[in-house]
Amino acid sequence: MASPASASTGEVNQTSALTHCQACGSTSLETFYTLPSIPVHSCLMVKSREDALAFPAGKLDVAVCHDCGFIQNRKYDASLQNYSPEYEETQGFSGTFRAFQTELCRDQVARYSLEDKLVLEIGCGKGEFLTELCEMSGGRGIGIDPGYRPERNTSEAASRIEFRNEFYSPEHASLRADYIACRHTLEHIGDVKGFMEIVAKSVEGRDDAILCFELPGTERILEERAFWDIYYEHCSYFTLGSLARLFRRHGFQLLDLYKGYDDQYLLIEARTGDASHGRCFEAEQDLEATLAMVKDFKDSIQTKFATLREELAEAASRGPVVLWGSGSKAVSYLTTLGITDQVSAVVDINPHKHGKFLAGTGHEIVAPEALKDIDPAHVLIMNAIYVDEITRDIHAMNLSPTIAAL
Ligand SMILES: [Zn+2]
Repeated sequence: MASPASASTGEVNQTSALTHCQACGSTSLETFYTLPSIPVHSCLMVKSREDALAFPAGKLDVAVCHDCGFIQNRKYDASLQNYSPEYEETQGFSGTFRAFQTELCRDQVARYSLEDKLVLEIGCGKGEFLTELCEMSGGRGIGIDPGYRPERNTSEAASRIEFRNEFYSPEHASLRADYIACRHTLEHIGDVKGFMEIVAKSVEGRDDAILCFELPGTERILEERAFWDIYYEHCSYFTLGSLARLFRRHGFQLLDLYKGYDDQYLLIEARTGDASHGRCFEAEQDLEATLAMVKDFKDSIQTKFATLREELAEAASRGPVVLWGSGSKAVSYLTTLGITDQVSAVVDINPHKHGKFLAGTGHEIVAPEALKDIDPAHVLIMNAIYVDEITRDIHAMNLSPTIAAL
């Protein structure tokens, strides 16, 4: 078996390790997980196998802060990241994800009376959430994301939304929105403290502005040793408690703190005004539990690698193995375990990804229909939440591989 990350042959960037917690400033950091090489992007569309194999790589030096529980990659270098329109992060092609987004929009419009309000979304991606929110509320929006693609947005609500193809930066503090959404973005931000300072400045002097942030939760990653959810693009990792502490440090009142999407995502809703008001949540008291989970992760991650390699070898001995889902989990799973030939293809339902290649390993991304020719013996689904949806699709093609999920 190849050593971990040997599948990623791109040049590894040398960055010295951060010495301070990027959320609270503490120097009480403890590294608990390292990888010598992992592609710096996993959602960027790579046009040839050659480019995919030579894709730039960076290092993981994942550390927990003993003071606030925030987890970060100390070797993260933002200058290696390129969030262009070629960045294909959307999960909008999945019915399961769309249903979750629709429900969240409905809930937020009702809960915060967003009719006729100005909504700002930081890191709006392709604009699906902001557009749906404005469709429901009838209100106006501003979406900020360097990867936005106007030609893909055909909604009537798009005429009420100003999309800016740029990164969120200090100049955006002058945008005075009533409601600020930030979904699946904070985990890509290295300087978390600086980012929150811009957000706080943009609502300075107001007592009625609402914030809603959504991001992957780290509790499950630690508990399940889900190393495929740790990758270069995600430099920052939160639990409900460390997220709440971040918002409190920047002077926000908490309105709600919970998990969604089968407990995979953290959601925090907060407002401006006196930070001593608002609600307190039991989940905020998780620092000790987080440190204990970090220790367990550190002690058992090598065993997890060995088990998964054995399982994959067994499946490959029966016939072609296919991964379903070509996002970051697939890139991290394959490059971390050093897997190349044991996987025949990687399937994705997003047509914009077909014919492109997976960074690091060079696997071609194919449409589900390609499975008819491959006739897989085993399909490994990258996210358990899609098992029902994908199993139906596979059986509809009259295929009967064994199916498992990470
Ligand atoms: Zn900290």
